[in-house]
Amino acid sequence: MATVTYEKATRVYDGAQRPAVDALDLTVQDGEFLVLVGPSGCGKSTSLRMLAGLEEVTDGRILIGDRDVTDVAPKDRDIAMVFQNYALYPHMTVADNMGFALKIAGMNKAEIAERVREAATLLDLEDYLDRKPGKLSGGQRQRVAMGRAIVRRPQVFLMDEPLSNLDAKLRVQTRTQIAQLQARLGVTTVYVTHDQVEAMTMGDRVAVLKDGLLMQVGTPRELYDRPRNAFVAGFIGSPAMNLFTLPQVDGGVRFGDETYPVAREVLGQTSASTVTLGVRPEDLELAGHGLAVEVDVVEELGADAYVYGRTVQGDAEHLITARVDGRRPPAKGEVLHVVPRRGHVHLFDVDTGARLGD
Ligand code: ADP
Repeated sequence: MATVTYEKATRVYDGAQRPAVDALDLTVQDGEFLVLVGPSGCGKSTSLRMLAGLEEVTDGRILIGDRDVTDVAPKDRDIAMVFQNYALYPHMTVADNMGFALKIAGMNKAEIAERVREAATLLDLEDYLDRKPGKLSGGQRQRVAMGRAIVRRPQVFLMDEPLSNLDAKLRVQTRTQIAQLQARLGVTTVYVTHDQVEAMTMGDRVAVLKDGLLMQVGTPRELYDRPRNAFVAGFIGSPAMNLFTLPQVDGGVRFGDETYPVAREVLGQTSASTVTLGVRPEDLELAGHGLAVEVDVVEELGADAYVYGRTVQGDAEHLITARVDGRRPPAKGEVLHVVPRRGHVHLFDVDTGARLGD
């Protein structure tokens, strides 16, 4: 087992205006499950492929344990990768697919058979070892791809959107299985996904990327409760956090017909006359005052309901989402008033997006 360290790791593709990954500094702890997440094109795959040795590192370096692997060939890095499309050999049985890398490495047959059997037991694939991939379900194929990585007993697993070919229900089941398996094996894992729910449910820690830059790395709870900037605030959480640009007034921030109190020192951290105020849907409370919201859609989930509506801020209309009691949901067209729960707002600089206060 080993740590993984990116030290100012940078990748500039030929002819590109800016780096696909820009001076990435990130350490993955021994045995940790780290998820790289962000919108399409943010540099997740490039980061993973640099660690795999499939993409050149333009600047900076990458270490596995104490070993600088920046210029080490992929096959000598002691890693195993699970690809999005699984890349199984169609003409080989499940057992042969799983053992193939070991065979190429010259391992003896008995040892290969033992490792394949052990992985098949872990993955519930014992009854399928003689089948070809074409005769397997999507979920089983995914497990074979996992098995192929497990039998190698690498220092690090690399996974690039390994669940994206599964249907929604299977994806939810499989993400729990992968997280449990990883915890049991204790192998350091770097996992790429664009799906923030997947990231939050699977990762010990989550690294959020945007435009090749690391926005924040932390536990799911840290990212949710204390996003370091407005981008992470809006990206993490479903439904998304409401983000408003609001004027500063004496003693705080104008929120509808009232003032949300904010300490002077906090507002003093920005030179702008407005701030970005973020409040999660569950942190908006119905009140007789505050911000007026006209209800467009009510999504009833049983215990809770989400209200999707519109509100006017200054001259512009904004969409807003609030969570309300599912047993007493409002009706479409109704006008509600909401206020943020005290102590549950997030403030950001309107220009830089940086978090204000603590
Ligand atoms: P993600 O995995 O987050 O979707 P990528 O790492 O694939 O992002 O891509 C990051 C950026 O690098 C994007 O702007 C993408 O267009 C660019 N890019 C990726 N691969 C190549 C390539 N082989 N050649 C040139 N540009 C690339």
